[in-house]
Amino acid sequence: MSQTATKPVPVPDEISAPFFDGARQGKLMLQHCTACGQWSFPVRERCPHCFAARLEWRAASGRGTLYTFAVMHQVMNPGFASDVPYNVSQIDLDEGVRMVSNVVGIPNDRLRIGMKLEAVFEDVGQNVSIPKFRPAAG
Ligand SMILES: [Zn+2]
Repeated sequence: MSQTATKPVPVPDEISAPFFDGARQGKLMLQHCTACGQWSFPVRERCPHCFAARLEWRAASGRGTLYTFAVMHQVMNPGFASDVPYNVSQIDLDEGVRMVSNVVGIPNDRLRIGMKLEAVFEDVGQNVSIPKFRPAAG
């Protein structure tokens, strides 16, 4: 008899809830500073550029560029055993922030730094969705 290991699932908190609420609706929500006009990620209470506590949530474009990636062949967590080899990628969003995620919908050997990507949202259970990225259409 075998047990299926499960992947860890993010637990939204008071500060990150808008990010996860957006993801469940297929929107990539980011914080935008109303003092200096810059975007930020990861989620925080103050703007990392000007330190103002004037961050508001806005829907981002969901578009970005592959900055770099690594392909994982080892099973570091049993929940990911059926996914190896999978990529861990850094994506530069058009808004100017960098996000760690996975690129899906393309074999790992076709990943290219600089390729255009767009966000897709994956239901990971417990009413949580997370953004992943696929090659941009057109
Ligand atoms: Zn700012």
